[in-house]
Amino acid sequence: MGKDRAGETRLNAATMGVLVGHEHVIGALERTAEQQRPSHAYVFTGREGIGKKRVAVIFACLLNCPHTSRHRDCSCGVCRRIREEKHPDVIIERPERGRIRIERIRFLQSFFRYAPVEGRFRVIIIDDAHLMNRQAQNALLKTLEEPPPGRILILVTARPFLLLPTVRSRCRRIRFGPLPVDILAPLLEDRKGVSSQRARVIAAMSGGSVKRALEMETSRFMELRRRVISALAEPGKNGLKGILDLSLEISANRDMALQAIEIAMTWIRDLLTAKIGANPSCLIHADFLDMISGTEQHHSTYDLLDVYDELVRASELIDREINANRNMVTDVMLLRVSRMLAGPTLGLNLRET
Ligand SMILES: [Zn+2]
Repeated sequence: MGKDRAGETRLNAATMGVLVGHEHVIGALERTAEQQRPSHAYVFTGREGIGKKRVAVIFACLLNCPHTSRHRDCSCGVCRRIREEKHPDVIIERPERGRIRIERIRFLQSFFRYAPVEGRFRVIIIDDAHLMNRQAQNALLKTLEEPPPGRILILVTARPFLLLPTVRSRCRRIRFGPLPVDILAPLLEDRKGVSSQRARVIAAMSGGSVKRALEMETSRFMELRRRVISALAEPGKNGLKGILDLSLEISANRDMALQAIEIAMTWIRDLLTAKIGANPSCLIHADFLDMISGTEQHHSTYDLLDVYDELVRASELIDREINANRNMVTDVMLLRVSRMLAGPTLGLNLRET
């Protein structure tokens, strides 16, 4: 976390975005804190980098703030120390080298053995909780089965399906939606100095994630977008070799594969939006308006929905690592999608090499 003035400004802007974007969730947590009757365990789920951990910290503050009128952006000494991870009753546990080890879970259990020292609740926030292996999760189960009063466990994860069902079922689930484009785009303009048009595209592509939006390297991403859109807009143009080359490239890593699929999904969404005659300002890829209006009439709504389903399926296979061979998933996806989009009129000779 940067200590410089600019750093602070940026952090505040991001925090403000999270506060505004998750208004509904934070409001509910405020009421829970007000009544001082929280559940003993929560799992905060939603895409990576949308502010789940930030909200978990806010919840720890709300639960322990000594003021009667608790507030989400309280700056009292207690809330400040919790945010700075200097409060004796709140621990934020993070993975080390991609894992949360059983030794750490045992340490956290010993932390829960003692009553709060200063606050009302001892709170443990486990970030990326899905990085606990089976053994670590089983150890955690003991705490979840016999929760001592005044202890709150918050598991934060973008991949709740990797938690054991026995762990999940003992936690109250709080779902976080993606942050809206209107909140993310101005943040990007400010941080990356990109035009508002580009900021809106990246914000929409990030799946509502501040982290992903800020990490996206603008020029590389824009090039990937151009290639994916061109492959979808003219599916027969580069033949089988073009499709397989693109597949090989996007399957090089999980993030790029998911990003490419996300681009494809938003492209299909734009074609569907154009088909119902919506205002061009509703389009994500508004800078490709000519291509959108030139393409949408070639496809029926049903065809586009089929393509969308195929993309969702591939995205799930890659995200959940169900099929270890990512390249095979992207090959099949691109071939099917190209065939669906090419149709009999545009023609795609799949025997072409
Ligand atoms: Zn406070």
